[in-house]
Amino acid sequence: MDRVFEQLTEKFAGVFKKLRGKGRLTAEEVDEALRDLRLVLLESDVHYRVVKDLIARVRERAVGREVLESVTPAEMVIKILWDEIRQILGGGAKDLHVPPVTPALFLLVGLQGSGKTTTCGKLGLFLKQRHYFPVLTSTDTRRPAAREQLRILASSAGLDFFDLPSAQHPLEVVQAARRYAREKGRDVVLVDTAGRLHVEEELLQELQRLTQSEEFHEILLVLDATTGQEAVRVAERFREWVHPTGIILTKVDTDARGGAVLSIVAQTGWPVKLIGVGEKLNQLEVFHPERMASRILGMGDTLSLIEKIERAITEEERRKLEQQVTKEEFTLEDFLEELRRLRRVGSFEDIVNMLPTSFRGIFSQVDGERNLKRTEAIILSMTKEERRNPGIINASRKRRIAQGSGTTVQEVNRLLREFEEIRKLWKKMKKGQVLPFARKKGFFGFGF
Ligand code: GDP
Ligand code: MG
Repeated sequence: MDRVFEQLTEKFAGVFKKLRGKGRLTAEEVDEALRDLRLVLLESDVHYRVVKDLIARVRERAVGREVLESVTPAEMVIKILWDEIRQILGGGAKDLHVPPVTPALFLLVGLQGSGKTTTCGKLGLFLKQRHYFPVLTSTDTRRPAAREQLRILASSAGLDFFDLPSAQHPLEVVQAARRYAREKGRDVVLVDTAGRLHVEEELLQELQRLTQSEEFHEILLVLDATTGQEAVRVAERFREWVHPTGIILTKVDTDARGGAVLSIVAQTGWPVKLIGVGEKLNQLEVFHPERMASRILGMGDTLSLIEKIERAITEEERRKLEQQVTKEEFTLEDFLEELRRLRRVGSFEDIVNMLPTSFRGIFSQVDGERNLKRTEAIILSMTKEERRNPGIINASRKRRIAQGSGTTVQEVNRLLREFEEIRKLWKKMKKGQVLPFARKKGFFGFGF
């Protein structure tokens, strides 16, 4: 995968050099950088919708982020962008799933020239090296030469090959190959299919019939990385007819435009499972989103930078926490700030699971997100005075707040009760009677 992302990578490197040179950035400068990034991504063949989302998410996360002393805003942006790209690409590595049935059926689909037949051979070797016994077969009933190509590949990799020259339909081949695999104790049948130069309805119909008549455990869409946006369109067409379980991206060693893979994964949600990195049979690799994200950012030291930033964040949040605990009072304003912080850090369920049990009720799991929003609305409908000194909130103020936030007086009452409990806990924390939960996790200011 050496050259695929080079171009993209070079451009990113340029942008970040600019950012790095400046030290601390103003909001305008961050926006300017994001404008640059947007162009870089577009030029690199990332679909504009994907770019738009990516930039919006990076901005949202960057702007809400407090500036840390030991990390420059530019470094922070790198970290956030790295994270987002990695997330789009699937988070962690997704390995191929071989179910414990004999035999498992894997189907390779894609355009002619995308690398299906080669990949079929590579995949056979890949599985063999993991102690499976695959058999290769081809449903290209019309072209004996295509089957011959696979037979040769199979034999050079020391793999079993099955052919049914008399077959008229792909389904006959697959059924016969499955019987063969059962008799011979082969545990995976790798099915290569006929391709066309362009997506044709006839081919797609044939594949649809095949996938409807047989249960394939993996349907792998083989896409040529060098075709850029064309690969995105191919993926979209295939999606209408068959339901791929994943992508194998080929020719990652030769392509200069890297954006397509981001677009395809973002738009289809299909994981990239393997990548082809050369013509040789052993040049197939598991796809690693985090490595790819680092490559895209073009910095060999990205991972150590990320670690440094993560350490710094934990460190600073801990310091801030200590400062806050020495404050005199805990107000509804602090409460609101904490709620917002919670919203930023992760999935709602993760957060709830981190809370001390006594507080989980506040964010009742069932409609947690909604509760958070309503709670926020209530606090926002209070005056500054009321937020700092909730004691003054009498019945008429409660009615006003309920009306302003589109909630009820009961909900306002409940929030005030809950706030009072948290305030009490906070006081205890101050006296050191309870261990602030935050110290364990290093995340939330007051332990919820
Ligand atoms: P099919 O028509 O989809 O079956 O494609 P083939 O398997 O016949 O491959 C078409 C061409 O792409 C062949 O010349 C292969 O050697 C080449 N190819 C396939 N995968 C890769 C890869 O990962 N890297 C490179 N550089 N070439 C590849
Ligand atoms: Mg072929």
